[in-house]
Amino acid sequence: MAKKPGDLSFREALRQVHNRIVWLCLVLVCGFGLFQLHAHPKTPLPDAWNATRPLNVTDPETPLTSWKLGRALATPSACLEALATSSDFAPMDPLEISDNCHIRNQVRLRGLGSTRLAAVETSCAIALRSAMWVQHDLQPAAQDILGGGLERIEHLGSYNCRPIRTGSSNETRWSTHATAEALDVSGFRFGGGQQISLVRDWDGPGPKGAFLRFARDSACDWFRTTLGPEFNRLHADHFHLQSRGWGTCR
Ligand SMILES: [Zn+2]
Repeated sequence: MAKKPGDLSFREALRQVHNRIVWLCLVLVCGFGLFQLHAHPKTPLPDAWNATRPLNVTDPETPLTSWKLGRALATPSACLEALATSSDFAPMDPLEISDNCHIRNQVRLRGLGSTRLAAVETSCAIALRSAMWVQHDLQPAAQDILGGGLERIEHLGSYNCRPIRTGSSNETRWSTHATAEALDVSGFRFGGGQQISLVRDWDGPGPKGAFLRFARDSACDWFRTTLGPEFNRLHADHFHLQSRGWGTCR
C-alpha cells in the first residue's frame, strides 16, 4: 500500500525534533563540562587557561591573558590584586590637585618582579602594564639578547601636572602625565653591569640597539600608546608609555 504524504512529513518532523533534542543535550553536557572545568575547586586546568581565575602577572601568556589584563584594569581593587602577584609597591591615597591633575588608584612603585626602579608615584594601570611588559618581554629578551637579567629600569617619572609637549607654546590639551597615565623610560641596566640608554644606543647596530627596538615593539603589546625616538625629537631620550590611546606605536 502506498504511503500517504502526511505520514512522511510527520516522520520527518519527528526526526528533526529528535535531532534537535540530541544537539541540545550535547550542548548542555559540553557547557556543564566546561563550566566545571573552570569553576571546580580541584580543576586540573592551569590558572593561565582558566577564565574564572584573576590575572597573575607571573602566569605564562595564553590567549586569555589580554582579556584578563583588561578585566584587572577595569576595577581599582582588581588592578592592585594583580599587581601584587609580581611587584613591589605600596597602595597610596588618591592625589587630587584639580580636574586635570590627579592620580586615581595611586601606587608607589619600587620593583617589577626582580627588576628595580627608582620609586615612582603612578597609577596602578601603568604599574600593571609595566609589570606585564617586564615579565613577558623584557626579562626574556635581556637573557636572549644580552645574556643577563634586567636589573633596573631608568625612568624620567610618571606624574607631571602639565599640558602635552608638542613644541608649540599654544598647546592647551593636558598630558596623560597630568593623571599619571604615562611613564617615561630612558634606559635599562643588566646583570653583569651593562647599561643601555635610549639617547646613546637607539640607533646602535649591536645588541644594545636590538634590545631597545625590541623593547619599543613589545611595549606596544601592553600599552595603549608607545612613543619613542622614531616618533619625534622630543622622544629621542625616552619611551613614552601610556595606558590610554588607540594603539599608536612609533
Ligand atoms: Zn611621557
